[in-house]
Amino acid sequence: MRDLAFDRRHLWHPYSSMREPGPVHEVAAAEGVWLELADGVRMIDAMSSWWAAAHGHRHPRLVEAMQAQLDRLPHVMFGGLTHAPAVGLARRLVAMLPVGLDRIFYSDSGSVAVEVALKMAVQAQLGLGQAGRVAFASARGGYYGDTWKAMSLCDPQTGMHAHFGAALQVQHFVPRPPIPFGAEWDEDPARNGLGAVEALFAGKAHEIAGFIVEPVVQGAGGMWFYHPRWLAGLRTLCDRHGVLLIFDEIATGFGRTGTLFAMERAGVVPDILCLGKALTGGMMSFAATVASGRVAEAISDGPAPVLMHGPTFMGNPLACAVACASLDLLAEGAWQAQVAGIEAGLAQGLAPARGLPGVRDVRVLGAIGVIETQAPVDMGRVHGFCRDSGVWLRPFGRLLYCMPPFVAAPDEVARICAAMVEIAGWP
Ligand SMILES: *Cc1c(COP(=O)(O)O)cnc(C)c1O
Repeated sequence: MRDLAFDRRHLWHPYSSMREPGPVHEVAAAEGVWLELADGVRMIDAMSSWWAAAHGHRHPRLVEAMQAQLDRLPHVMFGGLTHAPAVGLARRLVAMLPVGLDRIFYSDSGSVAVEVALKMAVQAQLGLGQAGRVAFASARGGYYGDTWKAMSLCDPQTGMHAHFGAALQVQHFVPRPPIPFGAEWDEDPARNGLGAVEALFAGKAHEIAGFIVEPVVQGAGGMWFYHPRWLAGLRTLCDRHGVLLIFDEIATGFGRTGTLFAMERAGVVPDILCLGKALTGGMMSFAATVASGRVAEAISDGPAPVLMHGPTFMGNPLACAVACASLDLLAEGAWQAQVAGIEAGLAQGLAPARGLPGVRDVRVLGAIGVIETQAPVDMGRVHGFCRDSGVWLRPFGRLLYCMPPFVAAPDEVARICAAMVEIAGWP
């Protein structure tokens, strides 16, 4: 059987059906912004392979770091053992994160990093004498991963609640932050969204361990950019009601939104932070959950003073080594001008979509561009069009979006925009 036929028969792809699988292209190689298909056709990876390949594919520095590590120590268990790549990565993270966020737990994917954050919150509340705080809250429109607890906090409409019936726990939700990024802030809690948080906490805070949210940019739950002041208000309310604040920067971290972390735009520091995706420059699945000293101390004060999690591949040396190289690239600073350039290119290139009848909104922030359409985008048609246009896009629902690798040149950004505008113009 040819590869594509065998794949169709035996492999699930993300969110897909075995009976009627969607079409797939076979990728043979990747370099910089380019994906090369098995038949030689090339496409720009406008998705950075789902936010991960921020420096482009196979960046020489990342390849070199991983190869060097491969020759020494590809893997070793982390229980009772440590190694230079794990310590080196921790040093870099502590140096780049806000003061106070410096207790790090490594895991193998973003969803697991979120699970660990939620566990930390419950264990810390136990240590603080708050055994009744076992529930969680979030804003609608969020996305935190596909494992059970993370999934229960994803947007209850666009997320996965409908697929699992009563098996999926119901959590507490407030409306998504209503004031868009760039709009004028409104102090009225009834209009800025904080009134709903206040009302929720007034009734339920005694049972809520933590509030989780993606700062400034909600990703896969709706590609929504909101006013950073909402986060400052949320921080105040969490403190007042004893709720731990968890930021999920798995998509937004490491420069994507124009600042190193999206939370910098709000000047707010969470109690717990989740990192992943671009952490390794897209080379390996890897993630980190970072807690404040206060959270770490509270966990240690608990009835069982250890944090109860420990994945087999925790702190994998290959992943840590390549993450160190990726953070070193960021530290050199070229990303700032690159992301600003992409932002300008996206703003200009996507502007023509604004006038189209099928388009509801166009928004750009950092190296993220979104066209929100009136009707769901025809995914099957887009899939074929990507190959023809040489631009790889993966829309969902009414959201046609891109987040190109930071190394994308102006003409490549223009080409991505042209493809998106063309799709948005389809009848
Ligand atoms: C992708 C993503 C996750 C889940 O990460 P995985 O590595 O896919 O498990 C969690 N939160 C956010 C904001 C994400 O974008």
